[in-house]
Amino acid sequence: MTYSEDNLLPISALADIVFCERRAALHQLEEIWQESVSTIEGHYLHDKVHAGENESRGDVRIVRGLRLRSLRLGLSGVADVFEFHRLDQGAEGIVLPGVSGRWTPFPVEYKRGVVRHEESFECQLCAQALCLEEMLNCHIPAGALFYGLSRRRKDILLTDELRHGTEEAAVRLHHLVNAGVTPPATYAKKCEKCSLLAQCMPKTAGAGKSADKYLRSEILDLKC
Ligand code: SF4
Repeated sequence: MTYSEDNLLPISALADIVFCERRAALHQLEEIWQESVSTIEGHYLHDKVHAGENESRGDVRIVRGLRLRSLRLGLSGVADVFEFHRLDQGAEGIVLPGVSGRWTPFPVEYKRGVVRHEESFECQLCAQALCLEEMLNCHIPAGALFYGLSRRRKDILLTDELRHGTEEAAVRLHHLVNAGVTPPATYAKKCEKCSLLAQCMPKTAGAGKSADKYLRSEILDLKC
């Protein structure tokens, strides 16, 4: 199946759905966006990266703000950085206009905070690679997540497992948007770092919380 240009969804929404289906629905269906210190810092970091110039450092070419899309996955977006690494002579890779040799693309996604494992970030990075693979008919074996606070980057291998998980998340995202139904909230530890916590109210309005239970807990909490 392929999607039309009119049906593309943002790659960032793919990161949302991997983190939490309800978060993706609140953003895509209900258009609820809430800024927090974390999201503002994140925007600032991305703006700073995109404002930089494209550059060349030895055998690495650095391109910022590359526009991406995949009709196969139905996704589009803008990559923070794509590095292009020069390959050894005879190796298979893409040709860059006006430059000799063969090159392999290497996506770098910028995140705030310190190095950690986040499946949603890895799927977002992988989706960027899958988009460019489709656009340039090439293979991208790896990329990296750069963490702004620790100023360290973590290389991510784009394994078959990660690719499969990313493709499956793209299918789920399109189903969610087509169905147009926001799933109920289920509180989990990750909610504490979600910028939509105040709007979502997973502790009070989540699945399995009856109105009676909700009122009892709220009324018992009242101090006379
Ligand atoms: S607060 Fe929790 S349930 Fe609600 S959108 Fe965020 S992660 Fe999902």
